[in-house]
Amino acid sequence: MTLTVLTPPELVEEDPLDLMDEIDALKKEKDAVILSHFYVDGDLQEIADFTGDSLKLARDATTVTAGTIVFCGVHFMGESAKILSPDKRVLMPDLQAGCSLADSCPADKLAAYQQELRAKGHDFQTVAYINTTAAVKSLCDWIVTSGNAREIIDRVPADKEILFVPDQHLGRYLSEVTGRKMILWPGSCMVHEVFSIQDLLRAKRNNPGSIILAHPECPHSILEHADMIGGTEKMRQYVASVKEPTKFLVATEANMIYPLQKLAPWHEYLPVPGIMASTGETCACNRCPHMARNTLQKVRNCLRDGKPEIEWQPYFAKAQDVLRRSLLK
Ligand code: SF4
Repeated sequence: MTLTVLTPPELVEEDPLDLMDEIDALKKEKDAVILSHFYVDGDLQEIADFTGDSLKLARDATTVTAGTIVFCGVHFMGESAKILSPDKRVLMPDLQAGCSLADSCPADKLAAYQQELRAKGHDFQTVAYINTTAAVKSLCDWIVTSGNAREIIDRVPADKEILFVPDQHLGRYLSEVTGRKMILWPGSCMVHEVFSIQDLLRAKRNNPGSIILAHPECPHSILEHADMIGGTEKMRQYVASVKEPTKFLVATEANMIYPLQKLAPWHEYLPVPGIMASTGETCACNRCPHMARNTLQKVRNCLRDGKPEIEWQPYFAKAQDVLRRSLLK
């Protein structure tokens, strides 16, 4: 008897170019647009109608006229798009694409901590990085991205303390640049946390004249060696402004090199390697495993099937006030 081994459909290899053609046709048929974050694979940025960081994509989502948005990113980004554009259908290629940073600040723990601080007499406003769940956003006064953080923090009344969640590294950096004292939630991103300072310094030594670009989610040990600290949009503006061919060492999710290369191809970009906490070995963990859940095949499937979809939740209404006040005004 011959045994036939069946391969699950999601593991069958499909030609990327055929998939891209199919996606293009489905977009027209289903009246859909694709928004892709800079941290997803280059092919997914190529098929997108809009690419960008969290701030730009949240704003782009409010301008689209199509009835359906497919969001290639992680769950909190799809939620933000739905909250800011409640009339649109927001689909995600993979609803399991989460975020370690968002997970580090559960809503029930934040609510309990806010209560504890109030009981101790703290008079504060809560500022959340956009990498939080909608349930957390609904408990906050302001939402920031790495692109608008300084401007929003200036809007917090000077007589109020600031509770900053969830990223301790971004919070520490913002506290330094704005001079505002902050109570920091102890969260961090699994990708930015792993950059190896030894490898960064070795890369700098081996590439004399290179410029280090670092995302403010990186730990202080990395930021203190950076020549430019900024979110992904600021990185793009910076490399485009340098006309002389230059080597850049890039300390953020490695897919960010794709839009940098596309925008300013006269430079060379080298990803800063990460280091595995368990073994201490250099690894490729500067790739976000959540962003990597987005694939061409899943984009095609979600367009074809009209799911999975971000459904409106009751607490989205409160989060909507905070997001609109913070990102659209
Ligand atoms: S790179 Fe970090 S912050 Fe961004 S989605 Fe991945 S885990 Fe979250």
